[in-house]
This record gives sequence, C-alpha cells and structure tokens, in this order.
Amino acid sequence: MNAKPILVVGAGFAGACYARTLAEAGHTVRVIDSRSHIGGNAYDEIDRNGNRIHRYGPHLFHTSNEQVVNWVTRFGEWTPYEHRVDALLADGQLAPLPVNRTTINTVFGESLTDEHEVKAFLERRAIPCETPRNAAEYLYSKIGTDLTDLFFRPYTKKMWLMDLEQVDISVVSRVQIRYDDEDRYFPGDKFQIMPVHGYTSIFERIFDHPNIEVALNQPFDKAMEKDYLHCFNSMPIDVYFDNALGELPYRSIKFHHSTRDEAADWKRSVINFTDARPFTRETAWYLLPHHRQPGATGYSHTLEEPCDYRDNNLERYYPVKTADMRYQNVYKKYAELADRRDDITFIGRCGTYQYLDMHQVINQSLMGAEKWLKRR
Ligand code: UDP
Repeated sequence: MNAKPILVVGAGFAGACYARTLAEAGHTVRVIDSRSHIGGNAYDEIDRNGNRIHRYGPHLFHTSNEQVVNWVTRFGEWTPYEHRVDALLADGQLAPLPVNRTTINTVFGESLTDEHEVKAFLERRAIPCETPRNAAEYLYSKIGTDLTDLFFRPYTKKMWLMDLEQVDISVVSRVQIRYDDEDRYFPGDKFQIMPVHGYTSIFERIFDHPNIEVALNQPFDKAMEKDYLHCFNSMPIDVYFDNALGELPYRSIKFHHSTRDEAADWKRSVINFTDARPFTRETAWYLLPHHRQPGATGYSHTLEEPCDYRDNNLERYYPVKTADMRYQNVYKKYAELADRRDDITFIGRCGTYQYLDMHQVINQSLMGAEKWLKRR
C-alpha cells in the first residue's frame, strides 16, 4: 500500500465515511477536526439534567437508501423512530406539519373527510403556476396564499432572512404537502431510525479502526497537504480558496437550552413557531427515544434562533440557496477550481455548498470514496 497517508479534514459524517472506507481499503488515514469533538454537527451528549441533546439541533435519520442504512447500522444499535412535528398557531392550537387533512381542518374549521375533498379544497385556493420560479410561486401553486403565509412565510423569513420570493424551491419542497392523514415529517422514507446510544457513539465506532487516527482541536493548514497522498476536505470551499471568487454565506443557529421540572404536555418532540418570535422551533429532547437517561433530574428543551453565521462564531450550518442561484453559481466556480486539483476533494455540506441531510452526505461520501479507490 502507499507509504503516504490520507488526510481527512472534518470528523462529521462526510469525513467519517471517507475515513472508514479508505481505512478498510488499506490506507492509513489521519482525521483532523478544529472542534474538540467528533461527529460534526450530528454530535450529541448527555447534559447535566441527564437528557441526551444534540448540540447542533435535532438530527433525525431517515432514508430509503438500503445501502446507507446497512452501512450506519454496522456501527451501533438503532431503534425505529418516526419523527412528527406540530406547528403552533396564533390561537394556541397545534396543527401537524407537513400540512395534511387534520392541519387544514384545524386551520379553517373545516371537516374535510378524505383525500379527494382535501385536494379539491386546496385546488380552489391554489394559484396555478406551470413553472414556479421561487418558493412563493411553488407554495401558492400547491396550497394557496393562506396556508403559505401562515406556515411558511414567517418561518422562512426568520430562518433565511429572505422572503419566499427570494428562496429556492428546493428549500421549502423538503417539507411535503399531504392530502391524506400522513403526519410523519419524512413520509415515504422507508427507514426512519435513531441511534440507541447517540450519534457520538456511532462516530466512535466508525473511527475505531487500526488505520484511522483522529486529532481534535486541530485546524487545517495548507502546509499539511504535502505529507499526504490526498486530502478529503469538508472545510468551506470558499475559505480554502481564500474567498478569491467571493463569499459563500451560511445561516447559523443560536441554540437556547433550558430545563423544566416537569415534562411538557406535548404529543410531538418538536414544535415549529408560525409567528414572528425570533425562534423557529423548540425540541423537547426527552420525547425522542433513549434521550432521557435513567436518573435524569430535569427535562431539557432547546429553542433555535437563526442568525447570520458571522454573528455566531462563523458556525456554518445552512448554505443559502436563492431563487436567482446567486450563491449556487459562485459555488460552481469554486468547484471548477477544485476540479483542476487531483490532490484534494471537497466533501460534505460546507465542501460542496449543498443543503444535505445526513443520509445524503453518507451516500455521496461512500460513493465518492469507492470511486476514488477505483480510479487509483
Ligand atoms: N419551513 C417553513 N415552516 C416550517 C417548516 C419549514 O417555512 O414550519 C421551510 C423553511 O424555509 C425551512 C424549510 O422549509 O428552512 C426546510 O424545512 P426543514 O424542516 O426541512 O428544515 P431543517 O430541519 O433542515 O432545518
């Protein structure tokens, strides 16, 4: 095998998938991360109240990709968990999200009884648009103005600091519109699971391989590259290239943790806020399976307050996808620069400036690692 090791920058899912796959193929892999922990934004921990919390917001695993599930389940025990979300309305009522039959009956005081009635109801309110150009046109064409402006407009403004007219359709089409009673947040995904002992323990097992060495609190430096055969790098691609082609902005989240003495009377673990308060959603961690530990003393909640990443220690969580493709086009230019290099591959959300879920990162990374191995 090659004398030179491989450098993986970032110990999140992208880096972990590359590291493990390359290590199993016989390469020596060094993983570095500037943070003090593994797991990237999927990192979770037990807080002082005895509740498992996800430090960077709720991570709910869902996919229909069997290979991805087969891979992650090699590294620990997972339990079925189907995520459900309620939206808090102005009158204090809760309505399920995605918008479904119950949501519509709750909001409009209707008593629609089946899918056909719901579909007909929404068709009467929808503003037809053959080729929607932005999130507003897309949503208006599906559910009309009332539901869009209730469930999507204020939330999106808080989340992205943009009006729906400026936002790319793919951002809001993540949330389905249902005509039936389906109330799971990820309908259609065959596998919906949660790690029994937390994501961090999954990462510990992924990195537990004789060919992998992990160094934390270790920022990347270009001077490192010469010592490695190849670098798989999940750092922000614009930062790597010294912002030469412009900045790629991100939205970030400030997490506000609190403790209650009693469990909240919630049916679902997450409540989304439809009003103008600065928070988008709140998670009651103990309502997720295996999150409340034996002997726990309180009930932990986390509120999410979106902000610019420059107002949150440059914590980059969400790439900004606009309807006019402004930043997506800047990214493409960076990707062209990167393509000219055969010693570095950019990976993960920040490396590829994509709004990816965990299963998508894992899929892309496993395939990327296999492809790289085949080319050698
Ligand atoms: N969204 C919204 N209202 C909601 C939930 C989602 O307007 O109650 C929009 C918003 O623009 C959000 C996007 O849909 O950023 C994607 O939502 P998702 O829940 O998938 O966001 P994530 O869990 O990735 O933060």
